[in-house]
Amino acid sequence: MNISLLQRILFFTLSCCFLFGLLFASVIWSSQAIELALSRDNYAEQLTNQTNSLKQLVANDNIYDSDYSLSDWQNLQVKLTRLLKSSPKLTAQQEIIQISIQSQNESLKSLFTLINQNKLKNASETIKNHLKARLMIQLEAIRSDSLQLSAIAQQDIYNTIKNQAFMFIVVSVVSILALFFGAFSLTYIVRKSLNEIKCAFEKNHSGHFQKIKLSHHSQEFDSIADAFNTMNKKLSESTISLTAMEKIVEERTHVLEQLSNTDPLTKVANRRALFERADMEFSRAIRSHSKLTLLLIDCDFFKKVNDQYGHLFGDELLIHICNICRQEIRDIDFLARYGGEEFILILPNCDITGGIETANRIQHSLANNCLKVDSKEICVTLSIGISMLSERHKSLDQLINDADKAMYLAKENGRNRIEVIPAPNLH
Ligand code: GH3
Ligand code: MG
Ligand code: MG
Repeated sequence: MNISLLQRILFFTLSCCFLFGLLFASVIWSSQAIELALSRDNYAEQLTNQTNSLKQLVANDNIYDSDYSLSDWQNLQVKLTRLLKSSPKLTAQQEIIQISIQSQNESLKSLFTLINQNKLKNASETIKNHLKARLMIQLEAIRSDSLQLSAIAQQDIYNTIKNQAFMFIVVSVVSILALFFGAFSLTYIVRKSLNEIKCAFEKNHSGHFQKIKLSHHSQEFDSIADAFNTMNKKLSESTISLTAMEKIVEERTHVLEQLSNTDPLTKVANRRALFERADMEFSRAIRSHSKLTLLLIDCDFFKKVNDQYGHLFGDELLIHICNICRQEIRDIDFLARYGGEEFILILPNCDITGGIETANRIQHSLANNCLKVDSKEICVTLSIGISMLSERHKSLDQLINDADKAMYLAKENGRNRIEVIPAPNLH
């Protein structure tokens, strides 16, 4: 059952109110009980006084005198009888004593009537004294019973006060314990729940999207945890999609980079990538005084191929030339489409001899692998101009220019040739 903190506070407050209500009711009950016991004690005291007065009367006056006035005794006797009739509500034990007093009072009346009979006035002194002694004994018995009534009433007062004090202490202790327990458990739940929420926020902040799992449930904190967990779920979902998005962007960027550096037809590097790589190799060769050779390759009579077999076949031929070149170069060499049907090959750490060898291999490979169209083999040749980095080359353009000059020389000298621009002071 999910109880709210407010309900818990209400429960403890109501429990304490109930306990204090109980205490208040017991105080009222006790005060009424004490009041009743006091009235019984007062009644017993009046009985005792009345009996004492009668005793004094018997002791002091000579009740056998012919001129003895009965009115004093009768007045006191009537008062005692009236008092006995107007007794407060008594306890069962007191009721028994009360009945005993009443019967003794009746005996007292008959005894006094007997004493005051005229015939007894002439009786012997022994009988008179005996009867008087009996009268005193009867009165003493009533007095003793009255004192017992009073003792019972006083014991009742004592017991009621004792019970009330005990009840007060018990209720107070239980109430204080309940209050302490309530305050402690509430503080504990609030502190623990706040700490768990704080930890979840910290983990969330560091990218660990964890749910809040509360060790103590309350409506208030549960609703905070639910809201947090919903937010966390959405956050983690959006973060996952962000990661996926980053991967897609990375892949697309890579593809775009490749596209921006690749010739779409032949899939070798384009002009942009060529100059980037050539610049880097040129600087590196100058810096490290290493060799660098550059080949400019041009397909002979390509226009004719296009005209004769169509532009699409021309495209296929360009792809074929590139594949042949790729097969004949090293991993560190770099092939790029310079424009139209012209290609540049950069050969790092390679001299003129190496360049000529590579060019030869390409020419031979192309000659041995002609393209087929309609069961006819179409063979093309390449004119290749070679230049090698030397002291007179101050820029990459000059190096390319030399290769271009060499290539045109090859064209002039009959095509399907390799020409080299002489480089007297080579590295
Ligand atoms: P030469 O031996 O003097 O080099 O003769 P050539 O016919 O090759 O002359 P040129 O270099 O002037 O001709 C190049 C031709 O290549 C012109 C152009 O139509 C064609 N060309 C350029 N780019 C492409 C291409 O991407 N595909 C095809 N099919 N043809 C192209
Ligand atoms: Mg050309
Ligand atoms: Mg050409």
